[in-house]
Amino acid sequence: MGQRFGCPENSRKLELSPNPSMRKEEDGEESREQAVKRGGKQLRALHGVADLNNGAIGLYNMGLSCCLNSLLQVFFMNTHFTVILRRIRVPIGHAEQKKSVPYQMLLLLEQMQRSKQRAVYPQELAHCLTVHNLKLFVQYDAAQLFLSLWNLIKNQITDWELADRLTRLYTIRVQEYLICEKCSFETTRESNMLTLPLPMFNSSSQRLKTLEDSLHCFFQPEQLTDNNMCLCEQCERKTSCLQGMRLTCLPQTLTLHLKRFYFKKSTWTQKISYSLPFSQSLDFNQILTQEQCHPDAKEKADWQYDLFAVVAHSGLASCGHYCAYIRSLTDCRWYCFNDSSVCQVSWDDVKSTYGNSRFHWGETAYLLVYMRKNPQ
Ligand code: ZN
Repeated sequence: MGQRFGCPENSRKLELSPNPSMRKEEDGEESREQAVKRGGKQLRALHGVADLNNGAIGLYNMGLSCCLNSLLQVFFMNTHFTVILRRIRVPIGHAEQKKSVPYQMLLLLEQMQRSKQRAVYPQELAHCLTVHNLKLFVQYDAAQLFLSLWNLIKNQITDWELADRLTRLYTIRVQEYLICEKCSFETTRESNMLTLPLPMFNSSSQRLKTLEDSLHCFFQPEQLTDNNMCLCEQCERKTSCLQGMRLTCLPQTLTLHLKRFYFKKSTWTQKISYSLPFSQSLDFNQILTQEQCHPDAKEKADWQYDLFAVVAHSGLASCGHYCAYIRSLTDCRWYCFNDSSVCQVSWDDVKSTYGNSRFHWGETAYLLVYMRKNPQ
């Protein structure tokens, strides 16, 4: 079986639109059907996905570890990631091995592949993560935990060539720009991101209807005026300007993060559960305008992706559960990894994570992982 994991370095959470306000939505049309489909999913449970190469094995929940388990399965099912993981240098000495995240992940992957059980306990890796201040028995946000894990893995791979390969596997490159509206003077900066944090609302607080709309909106420039004006070098004073980013390079494994969680009155986190459909394939040449791409962007023709995994959250922001829907890169079937239980599912089951504002406890896609169609 393959297993995948990932997240780009120095990822920044850029906010191109204001925090979305909570709105009442009406997208309940899929609800009943979704519930039926979810029931059907359980009937097809395979108790460990014996038909994946060596058997996809579940991970026991050790107390609020569903988020970690889901992300680990997404890493481990990504054969582009495991090729790198299998080549790491084994740390010298027991103490070094105990605290090496990539090494402990490799041990866990091998344990899963050897196991004849339906699931294994990831306790050694979990203990290793606590050494690096990732606590157990804590409710994590999958996007944040993904960043933390990816950075730990990347920083602990001692072979720079492998670390560089991991970086290229997950890193999105963009060019940030600021254009003075008075004199058109432009300043730019190149930056790397591990995920694209995608808005659920546009800058006018209108609900975005599809993932493509959200991506398009993310790359729309924002006008900075009044208190947000910036100093223009050429005008030598603060002027209103346009701030945005252009896409320069997309990685093999592309992670999109739907901004479904937001702070309400800065005190508690709320979840936006309305439906945001996503498709099984994405072509960025169709989604973005020419202005939203860097003019020097190479490989644009290869900006075509297939959906590989969905990390879904159910429940409320403060109290919920994660599972991962992953399309095997070896047999091309979809599986649902729900802690110790793994079962084969259909695309309709995956679509049940689009969201539904009438069912706040329902499953909603939170991280979407796309895989480039033509591997580099
Ligand atoms: Zn100016």
